[in-house]
Amino acid sequence: MALDAEVKGQLAQYLTMLENPIVLETSLNDSEASGKVRDFVTEIAEMSDKIAFKEVTLKRTPSFKVTRPGEDSGIVFAGLPMGHEFTSLIMALLQVSGRAPKISDEQVALIKTIKQPLAFETYVSLTCHNCPDVVQALNIMSVLNPTISHTMIEGGMFKAEVEEKEILAVPTVYLDGEFFESGRMTLDDILAKVVTSDPSEFTAKEPFDVLVVGGGPAGASAAIYAARKGIRTGLLAETFGGQVMETLGIENIIGTPYTEGPKFMASVEEHVNQYEVDVMKAQRAAKIEKKEFVEVTLENGAVLQTKAAILATGARWRNTGVPGEAEFKTKGVAYCPHCDGPLFAGKDVAVIGGGNSGVEAAIDLAGLVKHVTLLEFLPELKADQVLQERLASLPNVTILKNVATKEITGDTKVNGLTYMNRETEDEHHIELAGVFVQIGLVPNTDWLKDTLELSRMGEIVVDKRGQTSMAGVFAAGDCTDSAYKQIIISMGSGATAALGAFDHLIRS
Ligand SMILES: Cc1cc2nc3c(=O)[nH]c(=O)nc-3n(C[C@H](O)[C@H](O)[C@H](O)COP(=O)(O)OP(=O)(O)OC[C@H]3O[C@@H](n4cnc5c(N)ncnc54)[C@H](O)[C@@H]3O)c2cc1C
Repeated sequence: MALDAEVKGQLAQYLTMLENPIVLETSLNDSEASGKVRDFVTEIAEMSDKIAFKEVTLKRTPSFKVTRPGEDSGIVFAGLPMGHEFTSLIMALLQVSGRAPKISDEQVALIKTIKQPLAFETYVSLTCHNCPDVVQALNIMSVLNPTISHTMIEGGMFKAEVEEKEILAVPTVYLDGEFFESGRMTLDDILAKVVTSDPSEFTAKEPFDVLVVGGGPAGASAAIYAARKGIRTGLLAETFGGQVMETLGIENIIGTPYTEGPKFMASVEEHVNQYEVDVMKAQRAAKIEKKEFVEVTLENGAVLQTKAAILATGARWRNTGVPGEAEFKTKGVAYCPHCDGPLFAGKDVAVIGGGNSGVEAAIDLAGLVKHVTLLEFLPELKADQVLQERLASLPNVTILKNVATKEITGDTKVNGLTYMNRETEDEHHIELAGVFVQIGLVPNTDWLKDTLELSRMGEIVVDKRGQTSMAGVFAAGDCTDSAYKQIIISMGSGATAALGAFDHLIRS
């Protein structure tokens, strides 16, 4: 398979940055697919005198390992890393040659603490824009720690394997032959799942004045406001960024007409790091108690003490779980009509869910898009009557009741939805550009059930200062009973909770 001139030109520039010799250990046979990989690998090897080509036998054929002579980097590409994965290949070539990956010292240290062998395998498609983040994170882990290996498997070339494993979404990661995770993941997400941290490191910390739990917009804002008061501030987060990391285009942060989720949260994280905030990532809070201090117990057993806590653990959209939902998330499967509705102007969309949020979404969308189909599982809509009447009055809305969504279909983005009439069991397919899933939000408050007052929906009940039912414990953002859930609203409530916590500290 010949590289086109433009790609070759780009690659040639990167290859001048190779620091040490590398070897492409390639496993081939007589198949057509092997022929393509042979052409691809030999063409790259011929472009730099720092790259050697060697034929070997690997677990999968065709595949190739990017490694240093006499060493084992553990990084294998099974199939052709073209499309979105081409960048993953370039980064692997550079990193294996000795260029340091662009991650924090803390992440490097955490990767190096892993002692047990971990063999990751990631199934990708070349048009999946979430896949390279996962492939690159696992390649970095592999390059920095010899006990870790990672194979990217291009689903198109390994169809039988994909079918046998019934993989319906990419990226899908296996660890030591067992399903590990599917969907978008950051390096921190992966580390949180595999690194067992030393609890004594946390327990030894001096009590905080304010400890924030959660690293989304609410937690970040609370930490900045607290730190700006000059008090000892900590921030504990499973992963920094929260739901915003799942958002491609954001157009409603006032003063910033357009940004993208990961870019926006990277600048928020940089802002937090400008202050003396003790950021503890890849950790989950499991329990909170009021003793002499407020005590937050982590899942690893460590206990952090603080004079005041701010809980900002956010929420997650409830998923339908049907095939296609995870695969096309942010590629036509959307959860936020305020945010993503305008992107579907003039197109046909569906809304799954006939409760208040689903019907409100359908009403909003009807003003923006060409046509809306609303699907409700039960024989009747559950939304308030007034909303139902408004919906029924709209000319460009079709309401389907007593139907079960079976699959969201698409190629590189959503192109339709298959549903079953629950009475007749007939299946139908409708062509669409987008599907809005509106079957509710789930607050991340399961760990607080017996300790704080929660609403019927499981949201933390707060007053106008963000104070919860436990003295010294405040909450902000999507995990609370605030009426609306948006980035600027959670940032505002994070600021409120930090100011509330500061007031509490000076009064107690
Ligand atoms: C796909 C999508 C698109 C969206 N688009 C927009 C948009 O365009 N504009 C807009 O204004 N809003 C949008 N929203 C809504 C917006 O993202 C949320 O309102 C906002 O992120 C809420 O912030 P938060 O800090 O309260 O919670 P989250 O963002 O949910 O962050 C929660 C944080 O808590 C951490 N955490 C959770 N449990 C624990 C635990 N037990 N221990 C430690 N840490 C924990 C998480 O790792 C995370 O860091 C969108 C949401 C989604 C899902």
